[in-house]
Amino acid sequence: MDSGTTKTHVVIVGGGFAGLGCARALAKAGDVKVTLIDKNNYHQFQPLLYQVATAELASSDVATSLRDSLRGRANVDVKMSEVMVADPKSRSVTTRDGQRYQGDFLVLAAGSQPNFYNTEGAEHYSFPLYSLEQAQRLRSRVLTVFEDADRNPSLIDKGALNFVIIGGGPTGTELAGALADMINLTMAREYPDLAVKRAQVSLVEHGSTLLAPFSAEAHDYAARTLQRKGVRLLLNRAVTEVASDHVRLSDGTVIQTRSVVWAGGLMASPLADNAGLPRGHGGRIEVQPDLTVAGFPGVYALGDFANIPGVDGRSLPQLAAVAQQCGVWTARNILAEIAGQPRTAFHYHDKGIMAMIGRDAAVAEIGSKRHELDGPIAFAAWLGVHALLMSGVRERVEAFIDWAWNYFSKTRSVQVLDRPDEGRIDWGEHAEQNVTH
Ligand SMILES: Cc1cc2nc3c(=O)[nH]c(=O)nc-3n(C[C@H](O)[C@H](O)[C@H](O)COP(=O)(O)OP(=O)(O)OC[C@H]3O[C@@H](n4cnc5c(N)ncnc54)[C@H](O)[C@@H]3O)c2cc1C
Repeated sequence: MDSGTTKTHVVIVGGGFAGLGCARALAKAGDVKVTLIDKNNYHQFQPLLYQVATAELASSDVATSLRDSLRGRANVDVKMSEVMVADPKSRSVTTRDGQRYQGDFLVLAAGSQPNFYNTEGAEHYSFPLYSLEQAQRLRSRVLTVFEDADRNPSLIDKGALNFVIIGGGPTGTELAGALADMINLTMAREYPDLAVKRAQVSLVEHGSTLLAPFSAEAHDYAARTLQRKGVRLLLNRAVTEVASDHVRLSDGTVIQTRSVVWAGGLMASPLADNAGLPRGHGGRIEVQPDLTVAGFPGVYALGDFANIPGVDGRSLPQLAAVAQQCGVWTARNILAEIAGQPRTAFHYHDKGIMAMIGRDAAVAEIGSKRHELDGPIAFAAWLGVHALLMSGVRERVEAFIDWAWNYFSKTRSVQVLDRPDEGRIDWGEHAEQNVTH
């Protein structure tokens, strides 16, 4: 209990879909005090990071201040700090600045990080797409290569306009479509003197299909759509090396490029290494069906940070909807425990999955039904689904304005290179000089 009061104290690590969902649900219960700790002071909307990277949305469209999201919830305290260690026995955590937070309940919802599978050079040279900072870095690089090539077209021969995306899951497929549209529709107009037609987006996937979580028909639809947009599909190939100026594939192919995006896999965020809890696939914390960790009373693990068993016993996928729903369920179980009632097993209500493949194509699968949507209908459906998941009214309104403007004008309203250092490239001393007369 909270010292000096009778309130039960719940410490939550991570203000993502899971942690924020849990905090909001607990905020409605008056007798609970919640401390929500996140290394950032904002909640980020990962499903739209690729749109920040391709200059369709501004950073502020996909991030909401945690304090703003929890405004008016007097029993929730937000602390911005990185948790370095968790001690599940005492249900406490220690942050980078040495602060210790102890709760009657500890909820770990620290999300995931990219898994590079020990691929040579990948961590150093590729651009992962799992955080707002990473999306901003990638946008800077994409805009930089166009500016550099516009000044010095010989850089195209050095791969300046080659973009390689590693991983053909939903993230890689959506990014490939958006990047191809950006090149074909926007950059071709913005850089009339540049041979934009020579730009090439390559999507590398070690499996034989794109969009693995979807049906076989959706795999084909995604492949056809991307090929129509000019994306080169390199299936059944793994990346064996990422270097500063090229990538090498398992079949020996070498692609010169300065823009390699890593969308190749996830594992639990580094806190899982220091949490002293049982771990399974992807380094994620193993939880019981009620989302608690066996042998550690009062400790819950949620969202991407945990392997959550579904009704068929297999782990649920790493999805925003799963994270959001298990956050709310955890709050319900904590309140049940406080009331001396039994916890219940988490039941995921699957509302379906959807992927947008560029501006005019989307595939949605709801139950056994598959919908291929084209043109403005695809755009409108996708927009509706994502706007519903976004947390703040302001973010929704701003995102709508950016989307509508981009869709109808075929421009990018946020195509501003405001972080030039992040995208800067050392082309070497021997980059050919052009003389402009
Ligand atoms: C590019 C991309 C596209 C996606 N697209 C979709 C989609 O279209 N549909 C869908 O359903 N899902 C999608 N997902 C998956 C979805 O975003 C995740 O499943 C969801 O974000 C998981 O929520 P979470 O709360 O578990 O983790 P997160 O949302 O990652 O939140 C974790 C939080 O923990 C914080 N944190 C981490 N470590 C620490 C620490 N040590 N100390 C303090 N704070 C910490 C982080 O700052 C973060 O705020 C996508 C994911 C990515 C990366």
